[in-house]
Amino acid sequence: MTELIEEIEQDLDVKISLGAFINFLTHVERSSRCPICPHDGVWNFYIDKTISAGMESPMAITRMVSTYAAADDDNYPVFSMECPNCGYMIYTNAHAVAKKLKTLEAADE
Ligand SMILES: [Zn+2]
Repeated sequence: MTELIEEIEQDLDVKISLGAFINFLTHVERSSRCPICPHDGVWNFYIDKTISAGMESPMAITRMVSTYAAADDDNYPVFSMECPNCGYMIYTNAHAVAKKLKTLEAADE
């Protein structure tokens, strides 16, 4: 079954720290293995280097650009991580991360 994403939210009003993003990866049971090379372990995470604060560093937002007929400047936010061995990049929808973390927070209360 295919689920169409009809409306992609462009604005991300929440800051997600490196620690929170790693918490998300753990909760959704993301593999630490690179899908295209033998690497299995630590990955490189793209953080906001202007505010370097260890695990509290905000994840850098990469804006992926989609091209539509009527709106050629549309974009959506993703978090980036890179395989330290082969440079393979993984992009994760920032909204999916924010949504999951909100659910986890609510379950905690
Ligand atoms: Zn790799």
